[in-house]
Amino acid sequence: MLYRPSLPARINRLDELINNLWWSWHPQARDLFRALDYPLWRLSGHNPVKQLRDINAEKLKAAASDPSFLTLYDSVMAAFDSNMSTRDTWFENNHPGLLSAPVGYFSMEFAIHNSLPIYAGGLGILAGDICKEASDLGLPLVGVGFMYPQGYFIQRISPEGWQEEIYKHLDFSEAPINPVPSSEGRKPFVTIQLNDRSVHIGAWKVRVGRVDIYLLDTNFEENTAQDRQLSARLYIADRELRIQQEIVLGIGGVRVLRALGINPVIWHANEGHTAFMMLERVREEVEKGATFDEAVEKVRATTVFTTHTPVPAGHDTFSMELAERYFHRYWGQLGIGRDEFLELGQETNNSGDAFNMTVLALALAEHCNAVSKLHGEVTRKMWHVLWPESREEEVPISYITNGVHVPTWIAPEMGRIYEKYLGQDWVKRHDDPELWDRVMDIPDKEIWDVRQLLKRKRKAAILDRAQKSWADGNVTAPQVLTMGALLDPDVLTIGFVRRFAEYKRPALIFRDLERLKRIVNDRWQPVQIIFAGKSHPADFPSKYLLHQVYTLAADRALQGRIAFVEDYDMHMARYLVHGVDIWLNNPRRLREASGTSGMKAALNGIPHLSVLDGWWYEGYNGSNGWSIGDGPRTYDPEEEDRADAEALYRLLEDRVVPLYYDRDRDGIPHNWIHVVKETIRSVVPQFCARRMLKEYTDRIYTKAAQASNKTG
Ligand SMILES: *Cc1c(COP(=O)(O)O)cnc(C)c1O
Repeated sequence: MLYRPSLPARINRLDELINNLWWSWHPQARDLFRALDYPLWRLSGHNPVKQLRDINAEKLKAAASDPSFLTLYDSVMAAFDSNMSTRDTWFENNHPGLLSAPVGYFSMEFAIHNSLPIYAGGLGILAGDICKEASDLGLPLVGVGFMYPQGYFIQRISPEGWQEEIYKHLDFSEAPINPVPSSEGRKPFVTIQLNDRSVHIGAWKVRVGRVDIYLLDTNFEENTAQDRQLSARLYIADRELRIQQEIVLGIGGVRVLRALGINPVIWHANEGHTAFMMLERVREEVEKGATFDEAVEKVRATTVFTTHTPVPAGHDTFSMELAERYFHRYWGQLGIGRDEFLELGQETNNSGDAFNMTVLALALAEHCNAVSKLHGEVTRKMWHVLWPESREEEVPISYITNGVHVPTWIAPEMGRIYEKYLGQDWVKRHDDPELWDRVMDIPDKEIWDVRQLLKRKRKAAILDRAQKSWADGNVTAPQVLTMGALLDPDVLTIGFVRRFAEYKRPALIFRDLERLKRIVNDRWQPVQIIFAGKSHPADFPSKYLLHQVYTLAADRALQGRIAFVEDYDMHMARYLVHGVDIWLNNPRRLREASGTSGMKAALNGIPHLSVLDGWWYEGYNGSNGWSIGDGPRTYDPEEEDRADAEALYRLLEDRVVPLYYDRDRDGIPHNWIHVVKETIRSVVPQFCARRMLKEYTDRIYTKAAQASNKTG
């Protein structure tokens, strides 16, 4: 937003392009920035706002008179204009007139692009992918979240193998954000009450194609020093600061939209953190004259709630005392008293006396869904207590399985193969299962060559990072080896890449160290494993696990075949989901609500090797990858670890490794490529964000919009 050399008139719409993250999922637009100044594009971390801030004016002048650059520029701008304004979209064609105003989508985090580091993991990726897909489908949607200047943290690993968290302050002039309501400057424009004081809230706008996201900010001098920090970081551990933060998001978020004249028809809460948004809308109705019950009825009919947490302990809760402290001035405005208010979030199971954000959301949203088929079952069982008179199957929580935004997660090189064999319009039709039958006709060699190329690119990205860390003096020489300097792109490579959490069992594969050594160190059929992922700063058991994995990776006995790549983020995620051979996922059963990283890998031709949990429970078809152990059931944890480790080793030894190294005379493992093709064919159309968002629209938004039309 700040700059920079002024743009030559012929290419001055670059300004619009860099301020809309639309460019991030359109390869031609990325090519444009690459063509503009390749070294700077790389140095900026693929961030055109930074690139254009730092670019040399001569470069811009040269580009403005370079015919090949201008041809590309014109073509990108034409595609941009057409995407931004066309009425020929799936939504317009299938649901004309359904929504007179957008869906309001509230989320603690949004992962759109690395230049906007306001996400921690899967929840944010889902929110970002939904915004992009809404833009592609022409579904009117507006996001509400936070503009955290410190975001999540940057991960470093000490020489002793412990995670260190570094909080860097984002330079807002490098981010694709602009202050609202006017671009003249940032100032707060709504207030909320936190106990006895007012907090002033402003917002930034991010454009994601046709979708706008408003990111709240409390860092204004009108606020106390502590309140200025409320929007500073993601997932504050302190419960009192957290309730304050969630009040800012929920209540402040509704007020920000209203102040901007945006009045959603449907309100969608992504996870319980955002549920205070529902209370604020009840308050509005009561203010307009409704009774509490009438207000709740109206709000419920137009509210959608997506729950992501499969274990009771994982839900966002506050002590009743905190809920009382922050809402004792508010419940009167809802037309209810203390007891009635606290009951809205009261857990009715024996887990005690807490104000539970999921319970609140389930009470105030009529349209509730889990994020995979199995997670739906788990969720209905978990919340059956709230509907004691119903049978478990009748608990009103449905499921819509998550999906990933294909244009974001596809490697351009794989995209070109799909273009050649599935047709120019494959992106437009990518949720059509029939289209993907044609994958079987792609010559094995073309897939194999691209897979090898992507592994080399991943190697280069890892080495690049290791080299930088070494040059900056952040790591010791042995750490450079552990960061993946010895990885060989010709070796079968397993990716274990995800947030570190106990239930994901990152150390499972080390359970029998001698057996693992035999597998990875095999002279003719070696195997390597890449680990990456962050532990939540307050999750000490998971930090200990990370330490354990890191220490084992550094063990010379494993010959440098195990790597730990620091600071997993969207940027590194792209290289990893493009550039390994197998995606390993071994959570404890019934703990992974969905998981999405395996879907990203699959669409790039990386088969899944996973416990039958989350999305894999419905994704596995017997020939598109492998399932570790048996299906969902309850286990003694020690027995579960033993059985799954055994199953994992056997699969690797007997099936996966031999298949990968079974080469024909042309050097290609044709039977392996068959699994790759089966992976692509079966996963892409089913686990893409397009299928997911069409389902949300057809099954949920349609109903909520009709209810809204009825009640006016
Ligand atoms: C996809 C993604 C995730 C989600 O990973 P899961 O294994 O599905 O939990 C988390 N972080 C990043 C950076 C991702 O790209």
